[in-house]
Amino acid sequence: MSDTRNVEKLVIIGSGPAAWTAAIYAARAQLDPVVFEGEPTREMIPGGQLMNTTEIENFPGFPEGITGPELMTRFKEQALRFDTRVVSESIASVDFRQRPYVLRPSYSEPVRAQAVIIATGARANWLGLPNEERLAQIGGGVSACAVCDGALPAFRNKVLAVVGGGDTAMEEALYLTKFASEVLVIHRRDRFRASPIMANRVLQHPKVRVLWNSYVVEVLGYDFITGVRIEDTVTGQQRDIGVGGLFIAIGHTPNTAFLEGQVELTEHGYIRTVKPWRTETSVPGVFAAGDVMDDYYRQAVSAAGTGCMAALEAERWLAHHAGVGESPVLETAETP
Ligand code: NAP
Repeated sequence: MSDTRNVEKLVIIGSGPAAWTAAIYAARAQLDPVVFEGEPTREMIPGGQLMNTTEIENFPGFPEGITGPELMTRFKEQALRFDTRVVSESIASVDFRQRPYVLRPSYSEPVRAQAVIIATGARANWLGLPNEERLAQIGGGVSACAVCDGALPAFRNKVLAVVGGGDTAMEEALYLTKFASEVLVIHRRDRFRASPIMANRVLQHPKVRVLWNSYVVEVLGYDFITGVRIEDTVTGQQRDIGVGGLFIAIGHTPNTAFLEGQVELTEHGYIRTVKPWRTETSVPGVFAAGDVMDDYYRQAVSAAGTGCMAALEAERWLAHHAGVGESPVLETAETP
């Protein structure tokens, strides 16, 4: 039996909706969780992708809408109310080869844990243009999530542009047709990567126009986007086109680098959960929640849902495998 002194029951890595929801459930279940919420870096601030979102209108319970940072503050406050401990550091590496698992924070001493919930999210890929980043941060009409932001009044009846040629770009373009006067899909090649069914829907939609072989080289506008400068990838010619919104849909990168291959990932780099409708990963006692395991829904509310699932699974797993608390197996469920 390994030495279990100074071993945490449950460590949660992340600080988006999935992580804080897991913390709320775990703390109320008296698992005394520690959340490693991350430290601010150039690319990321604690709180996840919602920290870069302005108005959120589709999170249930807020009929008047709420800003992303305000929502995340409330998530965190709710977790703190039940005495969740929070460390403002990232986990730089892990050792899942034997239990208790070892987690190495960026600066402080390694932490040992019986169970772990990974909720480190994913980050949207951006083009990397200076004005793109600036306008996205100030709510200036540049976004990486049409489903989150597209229905805002600022985008109504305008020409909206989507960059990308994959399924996400197709989905976002189709979604935006509900609000836009016209949707431009700007794609760097002469054919889409998206599945034929999604691509055909876009190509046949009367409100959508595709700008093939086109690359955005500059985002125009000061307080709010006014247009984009695009370059023809074949001729090299540049031109400006007026748009009232720009949605970047060039893929996401899940935040899994720190796992260094110790947890099984999908072919797209997301954490693989081993059973349908469960958050259990390839490592016993390690669970995954939110965008780091979900490349399909990617919504705050679905991330929160999987955070709840991960905490309940961790609670049951700890009872059965680490002698922590009690958790009867439901008649309808398998033993964890
Ligand atoms: P993706 O399939 O990787 O497509 C990314 C697109 O962005 C590609 O068309 C790519 O162009 C373009 N791109 C990448 N970097 C770029 C850059 N720097 N500048 C300009 N364009 C750039 O990503 P995704 O669309 O997010 O989809 C990810 C996965 O989720 C896929 O497996 C997809 O099928 C799945 N998904 C499924 C659904 C659905 O079934 N409803 C919805 C969304 C996503 P190139 O084509 O030239 O490489």
